[in-house]
Amino acid sequence: MFVRVVIPIPSPKTFIYAVPAESAAFVAIGKRVVVPFGAKRLTGWITELPTETSDIHNIKEIIAIPDAETLFSEEELVFFEWISNYYLHPLGMVLAEALPGGINASSQSWLRLVPGALRGPKTLNKTQETMLGLLASAPQGLSLKSLCRKIEKKDIHREVRALEEAGLVASEEITSHPAILPKQEKWLGIKQKPPANLKLTEKQTALLAILTEKEEMPAFELPQNMRSLSFLGNLAAKGVIRLYEQEVFREYLPAEELPDDKDKIILNKDQSAALAEIIKGLSSRQFSPYLLHGVTGSGKTEIYLRAMEKVLQSEGSALYLVPEIALTAQLLRRVKSRFPEEKIAVLHSGIPNNTRYDQWRKIKSGEIRLIVGARSAIFAPAQNLRLIVVDEEHDPSYKQDDRLHYNGRDLALYRGKKTGAVVVLGSATPGIQTYFYAQAGIYRYLSLPKRVNSRPLPQVEIVDMRNERDNGGHMPIFSRRLIVALEETLSAQKQALIFLNRRGFHTYVFCPACGHVFKCPACDLALTYHASLDVLKCHHCDFTAKTQKTCPVCGSLRIHSQGAGTERVAEEAKRLFPTAVIARIDSDTSTRRGASEKTLTAFAKGDINILVGTQIITKGLDFPGITTVGVIAADSSLNVPDFRAAERTFQILSQVAGRGGRGDQPGVVVIQTFTPCHHSIIRAQQHDYPGFYKDELPTRRELNYPPFSRLIGLHFSSLNEEKGKKTVARIGTAARKLAISFAGGKTDIIGPAEAPLHRLRGRYRWQMLVRGRDGVVLRQFAQKLLEEIKSEGLEIRVDVDPVHFM
Ligand code: ADP
Ligand code: ZN
Ligand code: ZN
Repeated sequence: MFVRVVIPIPSPKTFIYAVPAESAAFVAIGKRVVVPFGAKRLTGWITELPTETSDIHNIKEIIAIPDAETLFSEEELVFFEWISNYYLHPLGMVLAEALPGGINASSQSWLRLVPGALRGPKTLNKTQETMLGLLASAPQGLSLKSLCRKIEKKDIHREVRALEEAGLVASEEITSHPAILPKQEKWLGIKQKPPANLKLTEKQTALLAILTEKEEMPAFELPQNMRSLSFLGNLAAKGVIRLYEQEVFREYLPAEELPDDKDKIILNKDQSAALAEIIKGLSSRQFSPYLLHGVTGSGKTEIYLRAMEKVLQSEGSALYLVPEIALTAQLLRRVKSRFPEEKIAVLHSGIPNNTRYDQWRKIKSGEIRLIVGARSAIFAPAQNLRLIVVDEEHDPSYKQDDRLHYNGRDLALYRGKKTGAVVVLGSATPGIQTYFYAQAGIYRYLSLPKRVNSRPLPQVEIVDMRNERDNGGHMPIFSRRLIVALEETLSAQKQALIFLNRRGFHTYVFCPACGHVFKCPACDLALTYHASLDVLKCHHCDFTAKTQKTCPVCGSLRIHSQGAGTERVAEEAKRLFPTAVIARIDSDTSTRRGASEKTLTAFAKGDINILVGTQIITKGLDFPGITTVGVIAADSSLNVPDFRAAERTFQILSQVAGRGGRGDQPGVVVIQTFTPCHHSIIRAQQHDYPGFYKDELPTRRELNYPPFSRLIGLHFSSLNEEKGKKTVARIGTAARKLAISFAGGKTDIIGPAEAPLHRLRGRYRWQMLVRGRDGVVLRQFAQKLLEEIKSEGLEIRVDVDPVHFM
């Protein structure tokens, strides 16, 4: 019998293996197998059985089938195959991304000196001599990897083969064990009442007394002196108790629960209408996509929770996606307090692998039916999936930008279609594309135009920073208007949020005498000054340098810094309001585990007066104490080379404004900008989504950007600028030529051009966009192009439906 196996390697090929007779009964689609692959052993997955082959002689046998269970069903395989096709990414790599990490076995080559081997007449080269020297001082041998590292070479296969042929070195494959296994715990239980004639010690009698009460229990709950294996084993041998292993569930739960407010909430008219529609979709048992367009604070979350309740009542499971890990904690508390009896899984990259694995297993067995998580949770093996909520569907964090470049929102729609589930895309500021599809009737449009309890949306004021100067004639960080608003907030004992898209102290440091800017040597980006550590940092590769007092170019002693980051803004706020409690959240502060969660909790309690932060604070926070929101530089998201810059700016401003005035007090939002007339800023001020859409759509149509076309991005990078540039230019020419002939010329090419961040982590980067109306034709085009071009050392990443253009 032969089966088809997929292996996680960067190639679309699949492989045929023979099944040894004794394993034939255990094969199934979705099972993990260990197979020989070249000189290695790798873990793969069975995707087809049985299968035919004509090439019987070259077929190797499967080494092992480690699990009793399958890792995916045939239905899920269809999902994974679709992803592989759609994102032009090898199926094996898709599976490696989608299945829980850490459970795969692989093997390593291990090298040893052959003891007592004699050197023949053949001379060895310098590298080979060095290798022999290193191996001679390592009696256990060395892995191929560490040997490579020690001699600083990437590929030493030829050298290894030469040494093997000379009989001096032997290599073998050693299988490394999977890092993650189910966790077992020792348990004990009563087997039978001890017969009357059995003599028991005092300690044994005491144990039986405990056990009679509990019937069964984990051994670690026994008093210390009763836990020893010899003591328990002795009683087990007498047939009085039984010892067994039980799997432990490694769970992830929030620290505090919130009191549930369901009984206090009576849905308003708009909410009831929206929920009724969603319930209709649930009862139809057919794919039903909705756009829930509700202004900030309109009670969208409440609708999700009630839809989830409905699903749980009918034995289905529900997936609740949020864009940011930092948000899952707050949300999780809300979900947990609404469904206190329900087991809830939390899936995102911040959860330890072993906990993720345990949750994954319980989801697969159907024991867990409620899943909260970031984009990767879309791969959860939910059984009888009836509902997928994609909250803040417009958020760019749903797009993954390395390995598999997928979008969690789009996968939700596809998965819903396949399983006949309801998909709710929720947002106050839907993506232009999403709104376009809703207008076209592809998604049903549900609207919550008002905040709950007739709370008004906050009043938004625009401050033209071109007219602001402080007493010394300098550009201030805080406008006069924002300072007044903050003074009022503090004296009314309310809270304020200050948003800025840049972390650090100053954005760049330079020498005014010669114009020299301190840059990252690997990324060609200006370094940012961090006062708390007194260092300069690169925000892309984390390169860190000591601050310098003199200019390395002209020796001038007058080093200046320009522009403000969050750290500088927080410091300025402290100077202006010395008695206020001020805190900061950005990716610098959130590297410490749980630090931003702690800050948010303190803010929720009212222990912090002013919170300064980046993107994270614009998303989904529901704090009724906030009355003032300040935006320091609205333009920072506008002046980027991205056709969605205006859309993103409108979204960020509306979202951050939406954090204000959620309690009984109305809110005020102050937006500081140098381009006060831009439509994204004015429409955000007016809380006018349809207006913004009307402004924006004609530009998209004119320039033929989505939703009027589809895009595939090709990202190229190289260590060598000159060579890379030439190869990229050649690829560009080939692409244009192919575009003319392919499928009647329906595809066009934008670029290739240098990426906005031309140098990143030591690599030079270019990008090219392939554009077409029909997604299928466009993918075929990209595939054909990729087959035709020679990469010549260039690294190429394929990005279907690109979101980020840096
Ligand atoms: P959104 O997700 O749209 O920003 P939320 O669902 O977080 O809004 O709701 C904001 C607040 O209003 C929450 O504290 C929620 O409990 C409350 N809320 C929701 N619906 C109602 C309602 N119908 N009546 C009163 N309060 C409500
Ligand atoms: Zn200088
Ligand atoms: Zn860098």
